[in-house]
Amino acid sequence: MSIRWKTLIPKSQPMLYLKIKPTRGDTFLQGASDPLGIRSNPFHDLTSAGDIPMSKPLPPSPAILWFLERHPGSIVFGQVRIERLENGFCLRSTADKDQSVGSLREYSVTGMRELAQFNAAGDFRPLKSAPDLRVGWVCFVEDARQLEETLDRLYPGGVVDAWAARVKPPPVTHYREFVGRQTGMYRVAQQLSDAGVAEVIRATCDSRHCLKRRFWKVEGLAGDPSDATSDIACLEPCAVLLECARRAARLAQEECISMGLVEGDRAVLMAALEQTLSHPAPGVRAGDLGHPLNPRRICLVLEKLRRTPGLPPSTAS
Ligand code: SF4
Repeated sequence: MSIRWKTLIPKSQPMLYLKIKPTRGDTFLQGASDPLGIRSNPFHDLTSAGDIPMSKPLPPSPAILWFLERHPGSIVFGQVRIERLENGFCLRSTADKDQSVGSLREYSVTGMRELAQFNAAGDFRPLKSAPDLRVGWVCFVEDARQLEETLDRLYPGGVVDAWAARVKPPPVTHYREFVGRQTGMYRVAQQLSDAGVAEVIRATCDSRHCLKRRFWKVEGLAGDPSDATSDIACLEPCAVLLECARRAARLAQEECISMGLVEGDRAVLMAALEQTLSHPAPGVRAGDLGHPLNPRRICLVLEKLRRTPGLPPSTAS
């Protein structure tokens, strides 16, 4: 028997197919009445063409049903405003809540993934929860299942994580446990002291960079309070934070230089960095933490400058 796996992803409806082509001399182990075990497998639905769809459109998940029950009126999720219609929902940017729908560009459910990929400047968004989702769009969805699919394209895993975070205690992976599993180039993040991790968190998870509410923590810095940022839960450190922690750990291994600055100089430096943050340099990729003008790198330096004078400069343990 030759078995060919074939993945067909039509734009309208993603579906996985298994194509089976029996050849002479095959031995079927499932019994003569159901040689391929198809009837006994509830996921198989043999079509006349011989294609076997491996998945069907799913019903709304418990997560989206809980989400809708929790928000009886209009909903704000990250930078998305969701309004209930008679036959579905209307999604648009929170910045466009006063715009007429006709003035906005309509996107399909599948088009939302492309919308989430790049910001208004055309730069790739490595962190989908960053507060730079484009504006000027609208998307209509028919039901709760489509709403979940659309939100998942904008904020991957966002609804499910918010649903998971409702239990007490929430299923989080704290920093030490998370980096304890890292190998290779990210193992060095284990060497960052708790104070150093706290600086990285403040530089990376700040609401100017990420809209999630952080549930995980490190010794000395608790998770975000319940009224923080948004409903989108962060249950474990993300790749951007891990890269920032790796970078901070490497920097902490460098030789410390004394610059002979006084308190007034520190204020000038901080003001200059804040100014740079409010006018980000074009062309600096958000994920390029090696670039000196990367906003998260600037925030990391600001964190160091904010330290109480007299504290040891190294953040490595
Ligand atoms: S680790 Fe921080 S930056 Fe990353 S998703 Fe969570 S809150 Fe956002």
